Amino acid sequence: MATYIVLLGPPGVGKGTQAKIVANQSGLAHISSGDLFRENIKNHTELGQLAENFINKGELVPDDLTIAMIKDRITRSDCESGAILDGFPRTPVQADAAKIMLNEIGEDIDIVPFITAPDEILVERLSGRWTCRKSGHIFHTVFNPPLKEGVCDIDGSELYQRDDDKVETVKNRIQVYLRRTSPLIAYYREQGKLVEVQGNQAIEEVTRDLLDVLAKEY
Ligand code: ADP
Ligand code: ADP
Repeated sequence: MATYIVLLGPPGVGKGTQAKIVANQSGLAHISSGDLFRENIKNHTELGQLAENFINKGELVPDDLTIAMIKDRITRSDCESGAILDGFPRTPVQADAAKIMLNEIGEDIDIVPFITAPDEILVERLSGRWTCRKSGHIFHTVFNPPLKEGVCDIDGSELYQRDDDKVETVKNRIQVYLRRTSPLIAYYREQGKLVEVQGNQAIEEVTRDLLDVLAKEY
């Protein structure tokens, strides 16, 4: 049996940061829908062109496009022992689709850590976020600064500030999260899969709590 983890939580709470750490330690694949969209935009694919307008406004990309992209990703061989889903599902329709695509390969979502933090913390984190151009590694000017300003510690590529991390767009993304994604909290709670993790702590403390939660499950 493979292990599938869905990281749930508002934009900026630390899902990407934690997913990368846990994936490194566990050997699970890291599937970030946001990274996949940004890769498509960078490579000027048709999907990238379709997704770009939604992303720049802080709206969600339509479910059918998103689901097809994840289905393609989740069936690749590096997901054999499982995956950490970061940023997907984000709507009830996507959650149903996630279940179906995993059931088709005899698998299911095992656990859904729900990372929480107050809105003002989210805005503070997103407005200081710097992302690596090459592979999406994540830094913060204050909370997780790179060794050399503007350069990724891991692969030396350029760090940039995402267009959708502007304060106005961030506020919209938080509203979109509340309206469209937060119903997933009850959805997974009813299935007995939701476990809350306090996101308003230092990165290492969140990792420790997350690993504790995962260790108790397996
Ligand atoms: P998400 O994927 O949920 O949007 P990220 O992992 O990209 O969140 O984190 C958003 C920003 O906050 C990044 O700049 C990251 O370095 C920073 N960050 C992540 N976790 C923490 C934390 N526990 N404390 C302080 N800053 C954090
Ligand atoms: P965050 O750091 O806020 O969690 P992501 O990198 O996960 O942001 O996503 C960036 C943008 O990509 C979202 O605001 C949305 O436009 C689009 N996106 C990412 N994942 C999904 C999804 N599962 N469904 C629809 N749109 C998505």
